[in-house]
Amino acid sequence: MENCLFCRIANGEIPSAKVYEDDAVLAFRDIAPAAPEHVLIIPKKHYDNVMQLDDDLLLARMFAAAREVAKQLGISESGFRLVINTGKDGGQTVEHLHMHMLGARELGWPPG
Ligand code: AMP
Repeated sequence: MENCLFCRIANGEIPSAKVYEDDAVLAFRDIAPAAPEHVLIIPKKHYDNVMQLDDDLLLARMFAAAREVAKQLGISESGFRLVINTGKDGGQTVEHLHMHMLGARELGWPPG
């Protein structure tokens, strides 16, 4: 997906503040953080969103990455929130599957 922002971040064309990487998953800091710690966890392979995903093992890889990132950020004990916005009503603005990790402050519920 040559015009996809997160594909371009995944292949290094656009710089990002990387916090974790393996062969299938990349995690980097959100450019407009909504919490003191705000990281995006993406599959390197392009999927528009959860509805297009045809490999649920990839979600397991993203969760494994989330655990590593939480340890690295020091929020594994205090807690965090994982969010996958999907489609228009879900508030998805970048059409490349991604999981938000938010933490390092108490997050309200329900979200607005
Ligand atoms: P969503 O609204 O769920 O699609 O989330 C997209 C997220 O991508 C937003 O939180 C943006 O702040 C973030 N974002 C957009 N461009 C960049 C970028 N170049 N680097 C890091 N995060 C970005």
